[in-house]
Amino acid sequence: MRVLSGIQPSGTLHIANYFAMMQRMIRFQQEHTLFCFIVNLHALTTVYDGERLKTDTMNACLDFLALGLDPEKAFFWVQGDVPEVCELTWILNNHTPVGLLERAHSYKDKIAKGFQPHNGLFSYPVLMAADILLYQADAVPVGKDQKQHLEITRDIAIKFNNAYGETFTVPEPWIEEDTAVIPGLDGQKMSKSYGNTLEIFAPEKYLKKKVMKIVTDSTPVEEPKNPETCNVFALVSLFMDAQEKAALAERYRAGGMGYGEVKKELFARMWEYFAPYRAKREELAGNLDYVRQVMAKGADKTRAVANETLDLVRSRVGLNY
Ligand code: ATP
Ligand code: MG
Repeated sequence: MRVLSGIQPSGTLHIANYFAMMQRMIRFQQEHTLFCFIVNLHALTTVYDGERLKTDTMNACLDFLALGLDPEKAFFWVQGDVPEVCELTWILNNHTPVGLLERAHSYKDKIAKGFQPHNGLFSYPVLMAADILLYQADAVPVGKDQKQHLEITRDIAIKFNNAYGETFTVPEPWIEEDTAVIPGLDGQKMSKSYGNTLEIFAPEKYLKKKVMKIVTDSTPVEEPKNPETCNVFALVSLFMDAQEKAALAERYRAGGMGYGEVKKELFARMWEYFAPYRAKREELAGNLDYVRQVMAKGADKTRAVANETLDLVRSRVGLNY
């Protein structure tokens, strides 16, 4: 089975990216054919600083490799290094009703947050559909925020298949209940572009400060608290098993425990959890030429698969005359 998912280098990768997508992808490489990529073309919709995009792209590559993505086992590449996806995007544009894109929550949210409503942002889901369909992915592990984009991909694939005959695999979203929507420091969805993240590889002091900034209600220490509505609880439980989570929920309900204590626990857990990966990341960061080689090889390997689909599509729509 082909499992595919991407991540934007639109900032520094955070623990919601990790638990909803990266960790799962790294596990899937054992049992599936994994397609994992850094979507720098998508990041162009919100990033207007070339130097920053270069740095964040390299950092995202380092993060994945440090966290255990195996470029020998998986297809691992940077989206823009396989430009075939742009040709497929153009073809799919002609099978994408404007109304479908107008209904996209993610577009509406970004506009509401003050991003310029340009065509790149509007047609983001078409590029995403091209990404998925080009590699004939069966399943796409994502957070809930991407559910609608996956539905758009499915619609486009079905429309195209109906018009030209079986061409694309219609993919399934894989969304895990526990990590569907992970809150950020302010209680909104944790997002690189909302500035409310806990970065996976943040330095110690900075991370501690950020954890302490997580917004809570003002229930006094001695009173009972509700774990279900608490951002700190949602975040610390990512690092706990079911038993530990239940025990902590019990302590919330009993009262006598302050949010500060749970924040300290969150910091300690997170710091320890990523410690081995931090060491690996430092080692890779000292050898960027090697990382560039890995990514170039990944793009070559991926391009061969991309062209299998693209050749078929070109012939279906009449581009190879
Ligand atoms: P941006 O703010 O630039 O959109 P992002 O933090 O939302 O960045 P993406 O690159 O858009 O990250 O998404 C990468 C993956 O992480 C996707 O699978 C997405 O569903 C998942 N994801 C992102 N944020 C969350 C979250 N808060 N909870 C669960 N999953 C998330
Ligand atoms: Mg996003």
